[in-house]
Amino acid sequence: MSNNSTNKWAKSVIKQNEIDCYLTKGKKDFINEEIISDKLLLNNNPGKQQIRDILQKSLAIERLDPSETAALLHVNDPELLDEMYKTALAVKQKVYDNRIVFFAPLYCSNLCVNNCAYCGFRKDNTEEKRKILNTAEIKKEAESVIDEGHKRMIVVYGEHPASSIDYMIDSIETIYSVNRHGNSGIRRININAAPMSVADLRRLKNVGIGTYQVFQETYHHDTYKRMHPSGPKSNYQWRLYALHRAMNAGIDDLAIGALFGLYDWRFEVMGLLYHAIELEHQFGIGPHTISFPRLMPASGSDISKNSKYLVNDADFKKIVTVLRLAIPYTGLIITAREQADLKRDIIRVGCTQTDASTKIGVGGYSETMTKQNENKQQFMLGDTRTLDELIKELVQMDMISSFCTAGYRCGRTGDKIMGLLKNCVEGKFCKLNAVLTFKEYLEDYASEETKLTGEKLIAKEMSQIEEMPFYQEHNLIDKFNQYYKRISNGERDLYM
Ligand code: SAM
Ligand code: SF4
Repeated sequence: MSNNSTNKWAKSVIKQNEIDCYLTKGKKDFINEEIISDKLLLNNNPGKQQIRDILQKSLAIERLDPSETAALLHVNDPELLDEMYKTALAVKQKVYDNRIVFFAPLYCSNLCVNNCAYCGFRKDNTEEKRKILNTAEIKKEAESVIDEGHKRMIVVYGEHPASSIDYMIDSIETIYSVNRHGNSGIRRININAAPMSVADLRRLKNVGIGTYQVFQETYHHDTYKRMHPSGPKSNYQWRLYALHRAMNAGIDDLAIGALFGLYDWRFEVMGLLYHAIELEHQFGIGPHTISFPRLMPASGSDISKNSKYLVNDADFKKIVTVLRLAIPYTGLIITAREQADLKRDIIRVGCTQTDASTKIGVGGYSETMTKQNENKQQFMLGDTRTLDELIKELVQMDMISSFCTAGYRCGRTGDKIMGLLKNCVEGKFCKLNAVLTFKEYLEDYASEETKLTGEKLIAKEMSQIEEMPFYQEHNLIDKFNQYYKRISNGERDLYM
C-alpha cells in the first residue's frame, strides 16, 4: 500500500458523530481535570479512622467514590498501608477467591500509523523491523501458545490498514480454528486494538471475542496531546469513548487501562475511577478488568527511559492496592512487563489475571528469539518465566491457576457477571471451574514437580468445596465431582 493511501485510510478512521453523541452540551468529556485536582488536594492528609472506614466500605464490596479514593492515594503511614494491602487481598478473596487466571498475548503486527512517543511500534521509529503475520504464521503462533497449556489469548494489533477489521476477523477465526491433539485449543480470544467505529465493533462481537481492551494511556488531556502527535490516536475523545461505542455495538465485556509513567500516577488512578463510574452510569456495567502497565524501555523512545513520571515499585504497589479497594468487582491484570519478585508481591494485593511464557515479538512464539527479532518487540519484558514455572510458584503461594473461560461461554458477562461479582457469587463458580481447568493443565502440560504439588492443592480445594454451604445449597457438588472424574479420565472442556 502506498504512503498516500495509508494516510488516506488513517484520516478516515475517526467518525466525529460517534464522539459527539457522548459529549455534554459544551462538547466536554467526563474527565474534568479541575475536579480531579480538587479531590486530590482536599484529601491529601486523611485521618486514620477515615481510612479505616473506607476500608470497611471496600470490604462490603462497594465501589468507592472519588474523594475516598483520593484519600487512599495519600496514605503514607506504614501501619495503615499494611492494613490497606491486607484488606485489598481480603476483598479479592471475597470476590474472586484465591485464583489467578492465565492468558497469553499474541502480537499479530507491528505496523502502525500512529506516533505514540513511548512505543517501539510508532510509525517514525526506524529501528523497528516491521512484520505482519500471515494466516500460516498465526496458526503456528497459536499452536505454540496452546502447546504451553494456554486457553485464553489476548491478540494485539498496531493500527494500520494492513491490520484493519478484515485482518482482525480473519486472524481471530484462524486462532479459534486451531485444535491440537483433537481436544485442545484457544477457548477465548480477547482483543487489544485501536478504537473503532460501532460498525467494525459489531463485526468483532460477531466473530466471538471475549473482552475488548483499550487503554487510555493518560487521562490528562495536555499530556495525551504531547504523547500522541499524529495519527488517529492523537484524538483523545475518539479513544475515551471507544468502550462506549463497544457497548453500543453489543460488546459488554470491556477492559480499561492507563500507561503509568506518562503523567502523575495519582491523577491516572482517578482517571481510571472516573472511567469506571462513567461506564456504570451510562450502561450499568463497569469495566471487567483494569490494566496498569508501567512504562518500559522501548526501542527508539527517549520518553520510555527518562520520563519524570516513571513510577517506583512502592508507588506501583499502592496503585494496584487502591484500584483493588476502589473498584472491588473488577479484575486486575499484572503483566510480564514486571520483574518476577515484584509480580509476586503485587499479586498478593489483589490481582486476578496474569500472562506467562510471554513473547511480545511479532512471530515470537514460533521463532527463537535472536538479537535481530528483539527489534520486532514493543518493549523489554521483566518476567520471561514459563507458564509451568509461574504455576509452580503460585501453588507455593496457595493460589490456584485457572484457565476458565466458562463465564463468557455461559453468558455470564456484562451486567450478569457484574451482579454476580458484586454479590460474591461468580467467585464461587470460578472456584469450581478453576479446579476443573487446573486439573486439565496438570494432566496435559505440567512438569512432574508442578503436577505433584498441584494435585495437593487441588485436594485441599476439593475438601473446602465439600464443606462450603453455598455448593450444598445449590446442589453443585455432585455435578462438580462427576466432571472432575470425567476430566481425570481424559474428557476435556467441562465447566459449571
Ligand atoms: N495499537 C493499539 C493501541 O495503541 O491501542 C494496541 C496495541 S498497543 C501495542 C498496546 C498497549 O501497549 C498500549 O495501549 C500501551 O499502553 C502499551 N505500551 C506501549 N508502549 C509501551 C511501553 N514502552 N511500555 C509499556 N507498555 C507500552
Ligand atoms: Fe501504534 Fe499502539 Fe504502539 Fe501507539 S501504542 S504506536 S497505536 S501500536
